[in-house]
Amino acid sequence: MQLFGTNGVRGVVNLDLTPSLVLELSQSIGTFFKSGKLLVGRDGRLSGHMLSEAVIAGLTSVGCEVCDIGMAPTPCIQYLTQHWRMNGGVAITASHNPPEYNGVKVFARDGVEVSRSDETLIEQIHQRKEWSVADWKHVGRVYSRSDGIDRYVRDVARHFDRETICKGNLTVLVDPGNGVGALTTPYVLRDLGCGVRTINSNVDGTFPSRPSEPTPDNLKHLTETVKDLNIDFAVALDGDGDRAIFFDEKGQVYWGDKTFALIEKFFLMDNPGEKIVTPVSSSQIIEEVARTHGGSVIWTRVGSVDVSRKMIETGAKFGGEENGGIFYAPHIPVRDGTIAAAFIANILTKTKEKLSGLIEQLPSYQNAKEKVFCPNEKKEKVLEEIRRKADGTRIETIDGVKIWYDDNSWILIRPSGTEPAFRLFAEAKTKHRTDRLISDYRQITEDLVNQ
Ligand code: MG
Repeated sequence: MQLFGTNGVRGVVNLDLTPSLVLELSQSIGTFFKSGKLLVGRDGRLSGHMLSEAVIAGLTSVGCEVCDIGMAPTPCIQYLTQHWRMNGGVAITASHNPPEYNGVKVFARDGVEVSRSDETLIEQIHQRKEWSVADWKHVGRVYSRSDGIDRYVRDVARHFDRETICKGNLTVLVDPGNGVGALTTPYVLRDLGCGVRTINSNVDGTFPSRPSEPTPDNLKHLTETVKDLNIDFAVALDGDGDRAIFFDEKGQVYWGDKTFALIEKFFLMDNPGEKIVTPVSSSQIIEEVARTHGGSVIWTRVGSVDVSRKMIETGAKFGGEENGGIFYAPHIPVRDGTIAAAFIANILTKTKEKLSGLIEQLPSYQNAKEKVFCPNEKKEKVLEEIRRKADGTRIETIDGVKIWYDDNSWILIRPSGTEPAFRLFAEAKTKHRTDRLISDYRQITEDLVNQ
């Protein structure tokens, strides 16, 4: 069985993801790292404490020393892994999944998720039960640190010009959705001189206020609140604080592509000629903005680890994802909702413009997404058939099959890394055209799956 999906190991607690599985997985992780200090942190889920104890038991049983920072956003755990020169790190988090889920993510010493080939090595150790269990004298020790969040908050804020942002007198609404982003994002914005209001900012692993994934659909209810509060922008985070979705001052919510493109634009104005890294599922707005502002785009497979690793490989400073992920390498090349919010505050004060107006100036496309069921064992064959049948003007196979048409519309059909399904992404100038692309390829994919 493959343990690692697109985002580490995930499952329903005590059903797929049992403490004994997590214990043995952590023995495998510890054996992979051989020894040394590993940082352990967790999001706010109810099962977080139970599973972090299993992780710590597994790691120390194979001789690793553990620094336990307790609850923290994933990007904060990643930053501290690197900043405190740990040998690696482990986060117990299921990101934006429903509350019954949890998961384990493994970070290398640079704070970025370990590569896919290293995940395979960990899986091999796990399957063969090749744990290098320590004798009683060499069981790892455990200590905790509580200064990590402060360190992170100060170090993020350092990348921005506090004086300028202060003068902007911005008022911002932060909605962490009861996730651990509540521990950092409001504080960084406050540190930068914004007036901060919060909603759903008590950490609660049952996610009582809204689903943890910050999609425009899940956030509709905030529109009225944003309008009533008379604020400059609102930011909504996912459960572990690495994704950020924004509302403008009128209460209009945007998909991550738009704010990614906006931050990209101002990043390129300050850093001409830079490379921008993004997965093939992102909007062509990213490429248009790069072209207009003298940058270039490097396309990757879908998954935050692919973006991070590509940034390191190419020395790119900036990356993003359509789901609200922003990566800034001068801090650390991992996606981080807090840094995304700081960038938006910075842009609004610098331009003295409204967020709605800034977004209006960007190129505009219609996007649509869909999911089509497909058993895992059929995925490869179905994808090959889609590629063979594709009728577009250009075909890209960086991840799945991306088919371009001469009206600048495209559809991406890619096998999900976490579910028995294909994910379909389409983009075109009109909604009619994206709907058409989705319905055509839904049909084609379903027919091939049912053959
Ligand atoms: Mg997340």
